[in-house]
Amino acid sequence: MPEVSATIGAGRYAPSPSGDLHLGNLRTALLAWLFARASGRRFLIRIEDLDRARDAGSAERQLDDLERLGLDWDEDPVRQTARIDAYERAIARLEEQGLVYACTCTRRDILAAPTAPHAPPGAYPGICRDRTPTERAAAAQAIAPRMPALRLRVPEGTEAPVFTDRVLGEVHGDVDDLVLRRGDGTIAYNLAVVVDDAEQGVTQVVRGDDLAPSTPRQILLQRLLDLPTPEYAHVPLVLGPTGARLAKRDGAVTFAELRAQRFTDAGVRALLGRSLGLAAAGEAVTTTQLLGRFDPDTLPREPWTWRPNRSV
Ligand code: GLU
Repeated sequence: MPEVSATIGAGRYAPSPSGDLHLGNLRTALLAWLFARASGRRFLIRIEDLDRARDAGSAERQLDDLERLGLDWDEDPVRQTARIDAYERAIARLEEQGLVYACTCTRRDILAAPTAPHAPPGAYPGICRDRTPTERAAAAQAIAPRMPALRLRVPEGTEAPVFTDRVLGEVHGDVDDLVLRRGDGTIAYNLAVVVDDAEQGVTQVVRGDDLAPSTPRQILLQRLLDLPTPEYAHVPLVLGPTGARLAKRDGAVTFAELRAQRFTDAGVRALLGRSLGLAAAGEAVTTTQLLGRFDPDTLPREPWTWRPNRSV
């Protein structure tokens, strides 16, 4: 096993505590751990609990599941709700550069606005971007007591960052005037993740490939905040029997449900190991054994489909 090195930084898994981890989340967590450990990195867990719709107790259950899976981590997990000051400092840095503006738009305002030619689909159409201070004050007054959101003013002429993903290869995406802080005061995911990864010394981000389209925005924020860009590996999702992304409607999919119905902890680990081509059917494997067999270059590139009724 490679020696843990302080200089090449850390990998991480960053679940949102909105419910129990299902096979897809567990597989991504295992991959994040394998990628980090195989490269000699430290491994961290971050609880992304900024969203108000969180499920009390689910962070603890998630950590318990990760431990049962056989993962270990090198520091106490960090909770984003304990780090609001760091996000506000980053917003202040952007503000000093004239890169933040208040936005009073509702979703409906955005949908109703004409889209600029060549604007990427779903991009913010810039309604509030060029308001004068007087217009801005009037717009804020008009939505009170609701508060304006804060958006990033993407500098004119900015090219969307292109990055080379360990799994997907070259990824192109779009950037727009993304939200930094929502009208209800919640810090936006894209900002929090960039600030946290940098401060935690994360040099490798492994996560589901549904998040690949957010990455150019995050790289832009890193550049504007003078923060390093980590290596990225966006890994395939797990699909349910209908071919759609695995979800609760697919029956027993969380660790607790699988444990209650048919698997031991080691059985879930074996199943995931097998899905990655790292274990034989029913083989009892430890995470250390999986690590010994893991090669990022031979990782299956297609989504894995979970069929609850097949034998494993
Ligand atoms: N918290 C995000 C999720 O659970 C993952 C964010 C990330 O890994 O950057 O989908």
